[in-house]
Amino acid sequence: PSHFTNLPQIPTDEPFAVNASYIKDTYPKKVNLGIGVYRTNKGDPWPLRVVEDAEKAIYNAQDISRHEYLSIQGDREFLRLAADLVFDFNSVQPCADTTQSGLDRVTSIQTVSGTGANRLGAEFLTRNISPGNVWIPAPTWANHHTIWDLAGVPRKEYPYYNSSTGEFNYEETLQTLRTSSSKNDILVLHACAHNPTGADPSREQWEGILDVCKEKGLIPFFDLAYQGFASGNVGKDGWAIRRFFEEGGIEFVVAQSFSKNFGLYGQRVGALHVVSSSSAAQGVSDDILAMLCHLVRGEYSMAPRGGAEIVRRVLGNKELRARWVEDLDTMSTRILSMRKALFEELVALGTPGDWGHVVKQIGMFTYVGLSETQVFAIRERHHVYMLKSGRISISGLNETNVRYVAMAIDDVER
Ligand code: PMP
Repeated sequence: PSHFTNLPQIPTDEPFAVNASYIKDTYPKKVNLGIGVYRTNKGDPWPLRVVEDAEKAIYNAQDISRHEYLSIQGDREFLRLAADLVFDFNSVQPCADTTQSGLDRVTSIQTVSGTGANRLGAEFLTRNISPGNVWIPAPTWANHHTIWDLAGVPRKEYPYYNSSTGEFNYEETLQTLRTSSSKNDILVLHACAHNPTGADPSREQWEGILDVCKEKGLIPFFDLAYQGFASGNVGKDGWAIRRFFEEGGIEFVVAQSFSKNFGLYGQRVGALHVVSSSSAAQGVSDDILAMLCHLVRGEYSMAPRGGAEIVRRVLGNKELRARWVEDLDTMSTRILSMRKALFEELVALGTPGDWGHVVKQIGMFTYVGLSETQVFAIRERHHVYMLKSGRISISGLNETNVRYVAMAIDDVER
């Protein structure tokens, strides 16, 4: 007999399971629109050129300390640059007066990428402010469910997506939060490029979300997994967070990932930023950091250093940073052109339905609008793999397969 015979059955993680089925499939024209990773026009992974150069430079420097432990907080220079990317403090040339820039309101710690930042943020808030509920968008990145369940906070959903317009469901979201949320509840928000729908709030709508957070005393929790990857412009993709920051009085957290915008998926590079209100800033930052370090020390001591060193080198160097922006442009432009190509193919085929949302939505993913039955049919008949919600990863499309995919969608739509 084993101690482990009565373990509860855990459902398999869908994106990784779909990917495994795709790999097993031997059909030559198979297409993988499941997993959210960038692929080139040939369907290959793409190490960013600037990342490859930074890796070579790190190796060539032959620093004998390069595999030593970091501090529990992580690489502090990396964290300064990471915070600068989010909040735009201009700390690349640091302003001596941190109070003036607002930098003293932000407490940052290095994490095991965006997932680790979400998890650490959930643990930190749960233990220290005892939220009644966490509000997550319906639908959302499925791991939000797991993360908040592990933290033990009751989950509630707000109606994020309007499937008839393919847009963010602003009115109903506000209505739900106004009538049903309570003080100290947490509000999970995708800062840009909402996963899985690709539908984002407009700037006016962000103002409304900010108002409701203030009105109801909610704690916004920004998940920032696609800064610069969505539009190619880091400022534009980070706008909502900076807007909330400028507000001064509101306290919130940001889970930042460098998986997509640096193509460092397996390196696990990220940060958690806890923002306190301007009036409290000086008083609480040390205690916040001590608590975050305590949680990290008991879990895994510190985040890994290799990937963070690459990001630090790139963000901290004017020339490399400019080249990173070019690489971001390469990725986001290809994604946008594939959205357009898919849209045009579907329109040319006269596929029943309105496909405008494919070009209106942004980032890696789109809710293409297929039912679960159609998703299984397209996999069976055409070997096109996507999540059962009908989420497709646009980066799996390329000039060679986009017509084939459009024809497959057309087939299951008729
Ligand atoms: N949040 C969202 C919304 C995501 O889409 C992802 C990546 N799939 C993540 C967080 C975290 O990714 P990682 O842990 O690789 O940074």
